[in-house]
Amino acid sequence: MTRLKGAPEALAGAYDQALLDLDGVVYLLHEPIPEAAATIAALPGLDCEPVFVTNNASRSPATVADALRGMGVPAEDEQVLTSAQVVAEVLRKRLGEGAPVLVTGSEALGAAVEAEGLTTTKDPKAAQGIAYGMIPTVTWRDLADLTIAARGGAVWVATNLDATLPTPDGPLPGTGALAGAITAALGRGPDAVAGKPEPGIYQAAMERRPGGRPVMVGDRPDSDIEGANRAGIDSLLVFTGVASPRQALALPPEQRPTYLGWSLAALTEAHPEPVRNEAADRVECGGWTAAFDGGRISLSGRGAELDAWRALCESSWAAADTVGYDPTGAPVPVGDAAEELLAG
Ligand SMILES: [Mg+2]
Repeated sequence: MTRLKGAPEALAGAYDQALLDLDGVVYLLHEPIPEAAATIAALPGLDCEPVFVTNNASRSPATVADALRGMGVPAEDEQVLTSAQVVAEVLRKRLGEGAPVLVTGSEALGAAVEAEGLTTTKDPKAAQGIAYGMIPTVTWRDLADLTIAARGGAVWVATNLDATLPTPDGPLPGTGALAGAITAALGRGPDAVAGKPEPGIYQAAMERRPGGRPVMVGDRPDSDIEGANRAGIDSLLVFTGVASPRQALALPPEQRPTYLGWSLAALTEAHPEPVRNEAADRVECGGWTAAFDGGRISLSGRGAELDAWRALCESSWAAADTVGYDPTGAPVPVGDAAEELLAG
């Protein structure tokens, strides 16, 4: 059962690898998130190495690292891990070096395939593997060739199945949406998916530091955090991207993080541990008490707001596990002081 843990000193000090999601954690679209650069600069002093983990396969690791450095974030090319690199690794392991691969996606995806010792082909009937990503210039012909190759037995590996990608115009069709078109034509989906929430990208990060102790930092419970849980590693959910504390109250077990933080800076902070009593109907954290009376959760005490959220989440999760998780996403009702906090 997922429970929030505590850290008596700076959280990153308890881990030797911090896997960092980018959009919503380090930057938002193209704007750096305050404190992110300073936090990442502080990680080596805590014996924790940053690894920038992204489902975006359209940019090479060098391009991503360059963009990060342009925002003042200290980043080495080798510290970037993209889903394109993981696709190439999966194909090389399945097919062996030199195998011909059809690339449907960016130049960066093609470069990752070649860097892994595979060859690229434009002939769908010659392809033994398919590296599939998404670029805005993808055409019907590209999807048709992918379908021909897959029907002919080529191993189809997708960078991710994100339904949408974030844009200034809001969420627009992403890799998963187009994969859905191919799936409809082919009658089946990809053979493997590299990116979050699949465990492949986490495993690839961990293979870079065997025996290490990683923590994943992300803003999406259904991607970053679920993937960390599936890979069996701890995670920090931050509220600088898509998730809010209120949404955290209603997370199903597979999407619950190990830690909560307002931002990436939570890596350099201590985390009070929420303490449940034996019946799990009272949770205490940092001066707050959340109590579940069988129908709703009430909050009392005082202290830092985040500690109240830690107590409320732990209480809400324990209550949902007791009364049954509501798949409509409604959290256990909270009362009085808690409602004020939610409203604030
Ligand atoms: Mg994100």
